Amino acid sequence: MLNYYKFYEVEKLISQGKHDEAFSALKELQDAYMSLNDESAKLRNQVHYLEELLYISRNLIFDGDAYWLISEGQKQGPFCPTCYHENGSLIRLRVDGVDSFEVQFARERWSCEHCGTVIAPEAEVEQAQAQARSAKITPFIQ
Ligand SMILES: [Zn+2]
Repeated sequence: MLNYYKFYEVEKLISQGKHDEAFSALKELQDAYMSLNDESAKLRNQVHYLEELLYISRNLIFDGDAYWLISEGQKQGPFCPTCYHENGSLIRLRVDGVDSFEVQFARERWSCEHCGTVIAPEAEVEQAQAQARSAKITPFIQ
């Protein structure tokens, strides 16, 4: 912390002709100033980081499959939901080539090169089939 009283002390020491003591007091003020300057730079970086987090939290949407960032009126993405849920990282999903199966479902296949998550119509179909297989069949007549 910068002690403003030190400035008056330096002025007093100079007026009394105590130049060595004044120089020493000025050196202390310089060290305190440098320390405050470093702390200020750290706090500015922290504010910038928190402003970015706030901006992202206000402009990030989840469409049920992936995250999208609305920036300057444009929808950017898709971003991996697994990576976002695990550590808050926005990892853009790779859009894989369209094949005939995907054309049938009119949707692209997305994959994350970071965690390996795949978001694809095939996965949805397999999940639906797995749920159908695990369904309990109750006969009408016993
Ligand atoms: Zn991922």
